[in-house]
Amino acid sequence: MKNIYFIGVGLIGGSLAKDIKKHDPNVVLHGISRKEATLEQALSLGLIDKKATLDDIEHADMVIVSIPVDATVKLLPSILDKVSDNGLVIDAGSTKEAICKVVENHPKRRNFLAAHPIAGTEHSGPSAAISGLFEGKTNIICEVEKTAFKLQEKALDIFKAIGMRIRYMNPEAHDKHIAYVSHLSHISSFMLGKTVIEKEKNERDIFDMAGSGFASTVRLAKSSPEMWTPIFKQNKDNVIETLEEYINNLSHFKELMKQNDFEAIFDEMKNTNHIKDILNGIS
Ligand code: NAP
Repeated sequence: MKNIYFIGVGLIGGSLAKDIKKHDPNVVLHGISRKEATLEQALSLGLIDKKATLDDIEHADMVIVSIPVDATVKLLPSILDKVSDNGLVIDAGSTKEAICKVVENHPKRRNFLAAHPIAGTEHSGPSAAISGLFEGKTNIICEVEKTAFKLQEKALDIFKAIGMRIRYMNPEAHDKHIAYVSHLSHISSFMLGKTVIEKEKNERDIFDMAGSGFASTVRLAKSSPEMWTPIFKQNKDNVIETLEEYINNLSHFKELMKQNDFEAIFDEMKNTNHIKDILNGIS
């Protein structure tokens, strides 16, 4: 790998750039972004070595696409049009079905690898990029059999070098499962933040009383709406299904409260404590 082009140099693109450079200082990292100011910022932060444009992609050994998923769906076919026969295009989007679908019949489908690195923070843009973000995290790869074997190997070498575990999944299963563990968590956090903001008009009171429990539960409500709206749009059916189950659980909890059934409420929480074991198992 000599020349890697990053389309999108925000949290994910920028963090990947940092880790890849640390692993191989000889690689030349090129950045492409919508706004010139974003590119300048990525350059001054040292995330990329050079600024580039989409027309330069023919020189890429690898292209990493880390922009909102609606923009990926729009741009991906033309990115694949431009890449050389030996070039590899990887996307890091949080949805996989629509992205895989848009290139399913592309003549260069074998140059594309659909990935979702399950790592992130609530921050965005080049200044959010951090080293080591992907260490010990899982990278979901979809439809791996549709990517040329030599290019799969190149991608896996890089993912392993930056400390990622690999899991293979089909795009439909990815979107269904990720709706529960990621998309619903964000909606729940956004709506918790909204509920408290609406109720507590005096923000000073919120600030004074907010303990670490509130801060950690509402952390995801700081996330970028520009990134999340297209994710909810692309994964609408799965997200609605998770919301229905979540709302049912909330309503059930409210009913138990109304009925003064605190024994049942105790049991609800006791049973849910099992999440601790599940999460310990994951880490
Ligand atoms: P980010 O920090 O906001 O960076 C995305 C970059 O994309 C921005 O710097 C922006 O650059 C550019 N961009 C925004 N709208 C665009 C558009 N319509 N067309 C072209 N470029 C556009 O976002 P991120 O967290 O890195 O997310 C990037 C991708 O990774 C998304 O697909 C997301 O679903 C996925 N992902 C995110 C996380 C997470 O936790 N954040 C985790 C895994 C995967 P300009 O300023 O130049 O517009």
